[in-house]
Amino acid sequence: MKRRRIPDQDLRRALDEVRAVYADLSLRPIERNCVRVKECCHFKLTGRTPHLTKGEALFAAKALRATGRTQLPENATGACPLLDSSHGNCLIYDSRPFGCRTHFCAAAGGPYARREVIDLIRRLETIDATLAGSGARLLQSAMIDALGSLTT
Ligand code: SF4
Repeated sequence: MKRRRIPDQDLRRALDEVRAVYADLSLRPIERNCVRVKECCHFKLTGRTPHLTKGEALFAAKALRATGRTQLPENATGACPLLDSSHGNCLIYDSRPFGCRTHFCAAAGGPYARREVIDLIRRLETIDATLAGSGARLLQSAMIDALGSLTT
């Protein structure tokens, strides 16, 4: 399937807004202790996989490209493909998606209540609509499409 190229200006604006959403989330007075516990990265064990809006996927794809990778790595263990199999860390931790930040990781304090972050979710949905996305999608397919639509 041929992917629509996103004009540079639109892409830049969308990535800036995703960055702003993540920054605003980090300022929320909600106590969490994500210290790269990585419990939530093991999808096969948790039975849960984050869903990404298009802006989040592009933001994560940009970060993955910055590591020199052009394709989504494979992870044979059923963990997140962005969890590096050699060193066991997230390849894009600083650019990880919203779901990884509002994690369902019990060890890090459990999930945020939806009402605590609903305004930020709405902003991500607005970015998604601006980019002609189709709502939040499974991390793997969202990332493959985002990587395919990036030119740099
Ligand atoms: S993107 Fe990073 S933090 Fe999120 S599940 Fe994958 S490896 Fe874990």
